[in-house]
Amino acid sequence: MRRRKTAIFFLVLGIALSAIAIALNVGWILLNLREVALLVLGMIFFALIITGLILNTIFLLREIRRNEQHDAFLNAVTHELKTPIASIKLYLDTLRSREVDETKRRKFYDVMSADSDRLLNTVEQVLLASRSKEARRTMNIAEVRLGDVLRDAAAIVSARYHLDTGAIRIVETGDLRMLGDAEELQTVFVNLFDNAVKYSEVEKRISVRAKPSATGRKIDVILRDSGIGIPSGDVKRIFKRFYRVSGPASKKVKGTGLGLFIVKSIVEKHGGKIRAESKGEGRGTTFIIQLPRI
Ligand code: ADP
Repeated sequence: MRRRKTAIFFLVLGIALSAIAIALNVGWILLNLREVALLVLGMIFFALIITGLILNTIFLLREIRRNEQHDAFLNAVTHELKTPIASIKLYLDTLRSREVDETKRRKFYDVMSADSDRLLNTVEQVLLASRSKEARRTMNIAEVRLGDVLRDAAAIVSARYHLDTGAIRIVETGDLRMLGDAEELQTVFVNLFDNAVKYSEVEKRISVRAKPSATGRKIDVILRDSGIGIPSGDVKRIFKRFYRVSGPASKKVKGTGLGLFIVKSIVEKHGGKIRAESKGEGRGTTFIIQLPRI
């Protein structure tokens, strides 16, 4: 009877200890599971928060840069509008308040006319940039001879900067015709020639080569200048709206950062592509444009 009691006692003790051991074990597993789950959750949240912070910082930096570009653009546009207006006003005041001889007066008229052109050009650039995202319907499509567009654009820019004949050299191979808006295509090349002159310090030498592409279905235009060049980090960015290279040589030249944005929009509207290449600062720039051919 005693032995039975003792046996029961040890049995109960055994069961109780086993129960406690199992409870402890399960509890330990459960507790650890919670910790592991908490750890995993914590890691996920941490990763989410870090990602959020990184995205936020990138977004903020981008906004700050955009704001700076907008400010620079506003300054540039204001300058571009103010300078010719101030100049025209000065000449008008002089003409009104003083007797000016005939040759001088003619010269004044020429300067005022050039200033009005500059003013019109800036206003047109701003208008074009805000319109350039519009669909094709604004285009006046017709068959265009690219050689004629290149020569007209070269003549406009040569007159604008009083360049020697031969400063812009055009070599055209084959019959290069395409469907497009002649006026818009002229805007493309006037902008590119204008930049090539503006961003060349002493020697203003521009060469343009237009030829059928290897497959013959496209037109390749290669426009080379021997100017200040573009740092490699900027060759892609220069096509963005308001973007201007911030190097000392580029800073000396006034501009709005809209020209190449307009150029790229027009080229793409025509189903073409454009990119820039430069061996670096002071080593010239090459623009490679590909347009569809008919
Ligand atoms: P803008 O000339 O009014 O500043 P663009 O959009 O025409 O604006 O050009 C953007 C930038 O690209 C310019 O500020 C200049 O730094 C650079 N760039 C454009 N064309 C040339 C070039 N031919 N040679 C060197 N830099 C150039």
